[in-house]
Amino acid sequence: MSRHWRGGNALLRMAGPSALRAGARANDVGMMLRAMTLARNAAQRGEVPVGAVVYHGRTVVTEHANDRELTGDPTGHAELVAMRDAGRARRAWRLSDCSLAVTLEPCAMCAGAIVNARIGRVFFGAHDPKAGACGSLWSIPADGRLNHRPPIVAGILAKTCGRQLTSFFARRRQERTASRDASTKPSPRISRNTTVA
Ligand SMILES: [Zn+2]
Repeated sequence: MSRHWRGGNALLRMAGPSALRAGARANDVGMMLRAMTLARNAAQRGEVPVGAVVYHGRTVVTEHANDRELTGDPTGHAELVAMRDAGRARRAWRLSDCSLAVTLEPCAMCAGAIVNARIGRVFFGAHDPKAGACGSLWSIPADGRLNHRPPIVAGILAKTCGRQLTSFFARRRQERTASRDASTKPSPRISRNTTVA
């Protein structure tokens, strides 16, 4: 990670005014771009494209993409694995001096892990109206009954992060339809006289 972000103003413009008002800085946007690259690579492996980076200032501590298909791990969400790896790497579960950038709003499981890890700040891209627990369905990290409430900045590069997911699911639907159509077509008759080139 370069020490100084070149084009910091351009990165800040990309974050949008609401993210800026909430205190996003150029390196937070840069980390989100990094998380988006991880998500894009995950999509190419057939994983739901979500990427996450745990960072301290301008330094990446750990980064991960969703890998549930590869590992068969139901807890293999990008941000959860990145936080787990960060705790292991630092031999300390408390990550209060770290920030988390993740391309999709964390679910209840990951929001719980954010609280337990005492993550300092959370930046996420697209809202998840079906499972989001940082403002959509629940607001776990903002719950006053819990002992840790990190600032949450939503919507950094939200459109681009959301597009990664919608185009992935659209492509997957197309592939499933195509394979269903192929399996219902009558297979060509092969007779004894068929010549195979
Ligand atoms: Zn999750």
